Amino acid sequence: MIPYGRQDITQADIDAVVGVLRSDFLTQGPMVPRFEQLVAEHVGARHAIAVNSATSALHIACLALGLGPGDWLWTTPITFVASANCGLYCGAQVDFVDIDPHTYNMCPLALERKLIEAEKTGKLPKVVVPVHLCGQPCDMAAIHALSQRYGFKIIEDASHAIGGKYKDEFIGNGRYSDITVFSFHPVKIITTAEGGMALTNDAELANKMALLRSHGITRDPAQMTNDSDGPWYYQQIDLGFNYRMTELQAALGVSQMARLDQYVARRHALAARYDTLLADLPVITPWQHPDSYSGLHLYVIRLQLGQIGKTHREVFESLREQGIGVNLHYIPVHTQPYYQQMGFKSNDFPEAEGYYAEAISLPIYPLMTNATQDEISNGLRSLLV
Ligand SMILES: *Cc1c(COP(=O)(O)O)cnc(C)c1O
Repeated sequence: MIPYGRQDITQADIDAVVGVLRSDFLTQGPMVPRFEQLVAEHVGARHAIAVNSATSALHIACLALGLGPGDWLWTTPITFVASANCGLYCGAQVDFVDIDPHTYNMCPLALERKLIEAEKTGKLPKVVVPVHLCGQPCDMAAIHALSQRYGFKIIEDASHAIGGKYKDEFIGNGRYSDITVFSFHPVKIITTAEGGMALTNDAELANKMALLRSHGITRDPAQMTNDSDGPWYYQQIDLGFNYRMTELQAALGVSQMARLDQYVARRHALAARYDTLLADLPVITPWQHPDSYSGLHLYVIRLQLGQIGKTHREVFESLREQGIGVNLHYIPVHTQPYYQQMGFKSNDFPEAEGYYAEAISLPIYPLMTNATQDEISNGLRSLLV
């Protein structure tokens, strides 16, 4: 089966990990700070906190921003469940904002309409989590302007988007948000097996997230409530977790970072080829906003079902039967049973549900050959014409 996404592991990556295995530190050594510094410098952020997953990064980002019981977190329904679950971890309530029909990202107009209503009922969100779906940045200037007007904080879920740009600047530089989160799961743009990172320009938020990553414990006398008892002394000053990234993961991340720009460029070349190969088929290929240079984690097409004598599911299943590992990103979060229990209903977010009824993620990853891509395109053509 051709996978929809997969990692690229080179000999240099393997050597970097083996180097750590032979070294003094498997965790809490020099490699995690090196990885953090490398990513922070690359994207232009002041602080970076590496953790064991993007899910953990979203959790500590929410906590650092003070999200708790009685608060609301808003995100998009077209995302992985983690973008919403992080609010529930903190005891907050979650709501959704419908998507833009062209970018499939959170729609700033729908956000504004919902904010106007929420202001009347006193239910304004404390945190909004825009997700850069497929790697394409959201309309961050508009969302940021609304945050100034309505007083919410912004966490960019950039799990798909490391290496991408918004208005010619790297995603993650924090110009339009408080915190940005990256994922390093193997299907994402670069990998550390499991892993994630939270970036911010705010020293206080960075400090808070660093504490929460490791049990809420500090060894810094300046942060302690009293003088140190001696050289062994540490203090727990908050309730944190063990969300640490290992040295092995960080070494892999450092090694992968050397190829980040190359990976994104190859994804763009593949996307451009798909655009051409699929141009005459009854599908909508991804529209790219002129302000965006997408990370292109995903290449999502929408079937024009009125022009196809098959259902969405039939096309999807036939592709899988041909060995083409298509996928669907994502099932609208509010339709998950866990969220339906909270009172969300089908039709609450019609653009998101319309998207779900037509979307298919075609395989895209840097090592994909043009021949494999031709096979996918021919497979799709055989079903649609
Ligand atoms: C992958 C992903 C996550 C979670 O990432 P992990 O590193 O697997 O925890 C969160 N949000 C989005 C949009 C994702 O694609």
